[in-house]
Amino acid sequence: MLPRKDKFDLPAGVIYLDGNSLGPLPKGALARAETVITEQWGQQLIRAWNSAGWMDLPVKVGDRLAPLIGAPKGSVATGDTLSIKVYQALAAALKMRPERKVILSDSGNFPSDLYMAQGLIETIGGDLSLKTPAPEAVLDAIDETVAVVMLTHVDYRTGRLHDMHAITKAAHRAGAVMVWDLAHSAGAMALDLAGCGAEFAVGCTYKYLNGGPGAPAFIYARPDLIQAVEPALAGWMGHDAPFAMDPDYRPARDAERLRVGTPPIVQLSILDAALDVWEGVDLQALRAASMRLSDLFIAEVERRCPALILASPRDANQRGSQVSFAFEHGYAAVQALIDLGVIGDFRAPNIMRFGFTPLFLDDDDIRQAAALIERVTRDELWRDAKYQTRSRVT
Ligand SMILES: *Cc1c(COP(=O)(O)O)cnc(C)c1O
Repeated sequence: MLPRKDKFDLPAGVIYLDGNSLGPLPKGALARAETVITEQWGQQLIRAWNSAGWMDLPVKVGDRLAPLIGAPKGSVATGDTLSIKVYQALAAALKMRPERKVILSDSGNFPSDLYMAQGLIETIGGDLSLKTPAPEAVLDAIDETVAVVMLTHVDYRTGRLHDMHAITKAAHRAGAVMVWDLAHSAGAMALDLAGCGAEFAVGCTYKYLNGGPGAPAFIYARPDLIQAVEPALAGWMGHDAPFAMDPDYRPARDAERLRVGTPPIVQLSILDAALDVWEGVDLQALRAASMRLSDLFIAEVERRCPALILASPRDANQRGSQVSFAFEHGYAAVQALIDLGVIGDFRAPNIMRFGFTPLFLDDDDIRQAAALIERVTRDELWRDAKYQTRSRVT
């Protein structure tokens, strides 16, 4: 059942089109954080690792994330940040194809994913290389030299969607390992990880999953492979028996081997509470609503704002849950828009980016937002000097 505005604490007078970057505050999150801090940490102290179930929380939350990404229970570990999980998945994938020397990604991938690959190549040494063809050219670039295909499902800038099944199939046909980054897809659409057969997937939980700033990331390994996965970051929480204090590393038998160190219990508990929002949500209906809202947004903005050029695929089937427009004065225009109560964001060099989260947006929000974007562009509100200086976060 959609929408679920009542499940979130959204500030009055704001149309929030940035849930793709930082999801809003779910109503149960504050109470949960308070319980964890005052009752568990405050009163139970270190006993809470057992008495409040802190030690089991990473797996419990992984099992709640699993159905949202089409993964079986026990196959998803949580913790750390997405960048770390990209590193872990990539390192493990490379170990599965030691004779091959190419990591294939695309030029639209999120910089941190590419940086992690570059850093890993530096660390491993040898003649490994990273190839980044244009997103449209990836399928043709998959050949027998490729060890790992590492792609982000939805392009963070344009919203362009890769075909997970077709690319995974091509990777496997060429003998490569597939790693998917689901940062902009988890919580935005139904996913079928098990069905597509990819070896690894990673993602963050502070975007469409509303886990809050700095919420822990997740990593999936295909269950039939987990015993063969060699964790590159062999931390004690991924050990088969952390409290045996064994001087030698022996990985846990299941996805827990992809844990590294002490889990961030406060954040993880907030994420656990945030996942309550998803109880009973039909992901097919969510996707249908997101496509309808974003189509409406494109139609309204194009009708009202001729200066903005669509930078996302026009066909909703080819898009994630976001729409981007190119505009020379995009940064200033987004700042002016935020002052009018419509929160989107800006990505260099000239992209105004808007995310659609049908859990708390409806047609009225979209029409109002488009009317305010028209005001900013038609009246050139972006010209104001106060909108010209860039903040650290855009
Ligand atoms: C948001 C995002 C990240 C951010 O990584 P963090 O380690 O959580 O800061 C990385 N990769 C992709 C594809 C993203 O969309």
